[in-house]
Amino acid sequence: MAEEVILKVTQLNKSFGGLQATNDVNYEMRKGELSAIIGPNGAGKSTFFNLLTGYHKVDSGEVRYKGRDITNWPPHRIVRLGISRAFQVSNIYPALTTYENIRQAILAQQKRTLYFFIPAERLAKQETDELLKTAGLSEHADSLAGNLSQGDKKRLELAIALGSKPDLVFLDEPTAGMSGEETHETMELVKRLNREMGLTILFTEHDMSVVFGYARRLTVLHQGTIIAQGTPEEVRANETAQKIYLGEEA
Ligand code: ADP
Ligand code: MG
Repeated sequence: MAEEVILKVTQLNKSFGGLQATNDVNYEMRKGELSAIIGPNGAGKSTFFNLLTGYHKVDSGEVRYKGRDITNWPPHRIVRLGISRAFQVSNIYPALTTYENIRQAILAQQKRTLYFFIPAERLAKQETDELLKTAGLSEHADSLAGNLSQGDKKRLELAIALGSKPDLVFLDEPTAGMSGEETHETMELVKRLNREMGLTILFTEHDMSVVFGYARRLTVLHQGTIIAQGTPEEVRANETAQKIYLGEEA
């Protein structure tokens, strides 16, 4: 039986000046999905994520999560509902260590009353260590985040996104700037988060082999409009998608 729809986006619109970055977008996600949004640079992928997570205000349309209207809620309230995101451009604190970056993300979501009873340095230690391990960053725990390799920075970004214990995660180009091997490792981690931890995940990605290898459902965005949607096989066979997007890449 199909899982419940947890995210429902209706007739979403956003323009910047005269540019329509999001154009009447209708979109649904079911619990447990691992899906991708693809489209050329400037198609509106990051804008879509920004609208869903409160970083941009919508012009019109509606975003519902588990039945609740969360349109234009501020980011911190959306995070508390269990929706998290990793940014295309890094959002880490470069002057803090890897460990501290993750710990801050965990602490930001915890109840403040705890703080009075536990010595500060012990707060969230176990959870932070677990997330460091999950993201493959244990050996870099004490490195300044600003000194990490590009691949490790993206993994840290992912770990920070997981710090709020989300059910639904948006990953904006999680493998940008990574080598082939790093990309593979990161996407295997994404797959485990989906399969083993039950996270519902939507990601954007430029590399078509990654997209077709990992996403079970694809949505093609072009100039803010969804032009094709379906399984990887369906999208591969879709003539509009081929012409507008896949053709450009070939
Ligand atoms: P993608 O992530 O698919 O590459 P974006 O969502 O970043 O695309 O951008 C979609 C369009 O909206 C682009 O033309 C971009 O220049 C424009 N855009 C994005 N954010 C802003 C902003 N804050 N102000 C003005 N224009 C923006
Ligand atoms: Mg983008």
